[in-house]
Amino acid sequence: MSGTFWKVAVDAPLPEPLTYRIPSQLEGHPLLKRGMSVRVPLGRRSALGVLLSDEAESDVPFQIKDITEILEGTRPRLPEPFLKWLEWVSRYYLHPIGQVVECAFPPLKKAESARQKSRKGPVTPRLDAVAPPSLTAEQNQVVQAILSQPGFGAHLLHGVTGSGKTEVYIRLLENLIAEGRQGIVLVPEISLTPQLTQRFVRRLGDAVAVIHSGLTPREKTDQWWAMVEGEKKVLIGARSALFCPVENLGLIIIDEEHEGSFKQDEKLKYHARDAAVVLAKQYACPIVLGSATPSLETWTNATSGRYRLHEMKKRVEDRPMPTIEIIDLRTERDERKQAEANHDLPFWLSGTLYSALRETHESKKQSALFLNRRGVAQSVVCPACGFVPECPNCEVSLTLHGKNHLLCHYCEFHQTLGPVCSDCREGEPRPLGLGTELVESDLIRLFPGARVARMDRDEISTREELEDAIAQIESGEVDFIVGTQMIAKGLDFPNLILVGLVMADIAFNLPDFRASERAFQLLTQVAGRSGRHVEDKPGRVLIQTYNPDHPSIQFTQAHDYAGFARFEMSFREQLQYPPFWRLAAFRIVGLDFEKTQRTASLLRTRAELLQAQQIAYQKIELLGPAPCPLGKLRNNFRFQFLVKSADAANMGRFCKQLLADGDWIPSAVKVSVDIDAMNLL
Ligand code: ADP
Ligand code: ZN
Repeated sequence: MSGTFWKVAVDAPLPEPLTYRIPSQLEGHPLLKRGMSVRVPLGRRSALGVLLSDEAESDVPFQIKDITEILEGTRPRLPEPFLKWLEWVSRYYLHPIGQVVECAFPPLKKAESARQKSRKGPVTPRLDAVAPPSLTAEQNQVVQAILSQPGFGAHLLHGVTGSGKTEVYIRLLENLIAEGRQGIVLVPEISLTPQLTQRFVRRLGDAVAVIHSGLTPREKTDQWWAMVEGEKKVLIGARSALFCPVENLGLIIIDEEHEGSFKQDEKLKYHARDAAVVLAKQYACPIVLGSATPSLETWTNATSGRYRLHEMKKRVEDRPMPTIEIIDLRTERDERKQAEANHDLPFWLSGTLYSALRETHESKKQSALFLNRRGVAQSVVCPACGFVPECPNCEVSLTLHGKNHLLCHYCEFHQTLGPVCSDCREGEPRPLGLGTELVESDLIRLFPGARVARMDRDEISTREELEDAIAQIESGEVDFIVGTQMIAKGLDFPNLILVGLVMADIAFNLPDFRASERAFQLLTQVAGRSGRHVEDKPGRVLIQTYNPDHPSIQFTQAHDYAGFARFEMSFREQLQYPPFWRLAAFRIVGLDFEKTQRTASLLRTRAELLQAQQIAYQKIELLGPAPCPLGKLRNNFRFQFLVKSADAANMGRFCKQLLADGDWIPSAVKVSVDIDAMNLL
């Protein structure tokens, strides 16, 4: 009899769907359809699952259990293109289908009564509408080009900072809403500020739903349903918003597509940008990837013709690009010895940057000083013996907070810094490196009465704090902004005309083949904060560095993205790195060093065996295993084993086979794979 059995994607770490029987009371139920949620027994408990396919009979040798109930009304049926996409995500990223499917549902049950209003007021504020500006010629051209190509199409919008990419998105969304369809806009979590949300709400009004990490589970659930039921038309959110099963999807936009935060590093290790392209294909709708500094992966797709390339080279209203000056800290030091006037300057501040800060302050405009996040992590060193306090659980040095509080940034470990070195008991430990706190106090000393806003992870740990800081800067209550580069991105302040990068070097000295690319992106993005609203005079950017000739800096100064891409690609090609080759990272993690290391070498042995068995696998390159740069985290030892291949499909098959039947992996060791890994630390 047909339809008696169903394959169900069950929310459990199982590589394949399970087969269940339809009990007689559910036989012929109209909602027995692919994409419906059900409750099923699993071992001694019950679990949720989604119906995948019905089967005439089952060849499962053991007794098949009955489906308990169909979740009618509490969970919507997943649209077919969406479910197909979830199946692709599961196959490509080698993650259990039942756990992938579970990502498509909100954290809580649907609110029974009318949607509850949150304590803080509505998630999307009601704002007065603003009239749309008339588009620049470049904006207009891009909008028309994208609208003229219905159906699936991947578009790269490469526009310099301040060229008005957001306005292009808004026009496309207005058009979409007029057609009665829905859209998803993904932005990096950190730029999901009210600044950005408000720009969309002012233009699209009630149609906007927002999902970000600052919402309560109830708020997230309500926003999710408003989108799924079609009440809202445009969902703005961080990467996970892609998993909202929108029925009527007609457009996806990924802003700042180069951002690393679109890649999730744990559990389901997916890249939201890449997955979004596949989702757009399933829905046969356009996808727009926007950036001033596209990832080399996307750039390759655009220049090879797989994606369509749209360029906006000018800022709106002919505002000039900022001028970028490079300060060579090596020669600056010698000059300082001579210049009497600069004797009082702190070690991190060159005479040139100081003069620029003073000028800007005197003209009542705002300056921002940015530090690299890793430069901010301020450790402590004993001048007598060189001892640096480290976290006993993680292989990283402890960071100094306030006067004497030492903290690990990966686990909960903390301790008090004593007056003498805990190792040699002689020296007096002193701070090493440069923190935002130090820059802040130096500025207050140099400019008495100046108002400084600090923006870093310590000062700003919640959304509200970020919003308060932004409001203060916007209202002109602030003279200097001191922050980390991560937070800098995406900010748009009218009075900000000077940006100083205190120390550019740290970004490109990381042990990762993408370090130069990230440094270039960071420098360009941060520089792009300067002078965004000044017509007459370009904003200024001063970059302090010990490596003035580094390509990341040189190409940033020349505003030459294409030049940087060409330079960096030749290096990637030689070394067979992405985007030419694909890369997957196996991570082997465990509490016992020996066991973990042994498992890692065993994985390599098994990989070599597989290669010996199958000719197609012989072109795959194996690297390692080796300890990760962060060799120990939260007491776990970490090893990495890299797999490189010119052929993504072949690499996927290889990785899947390598992980199949994990009986050989000791229970105390975890082995996972990260396809298209971004984070190699
Ligand atoms: P991008 O995202 O490319 O860096 P934005 O979208 O933030 O640029 O635009 C920069 C500024 O220009 C914003 O303040 C925006 O309101 C303004 N803007 C955008 N398009 C226009 C336009 N056509 N006319 C006037 N101002 C515009
Ligand atoms: Zn730690």
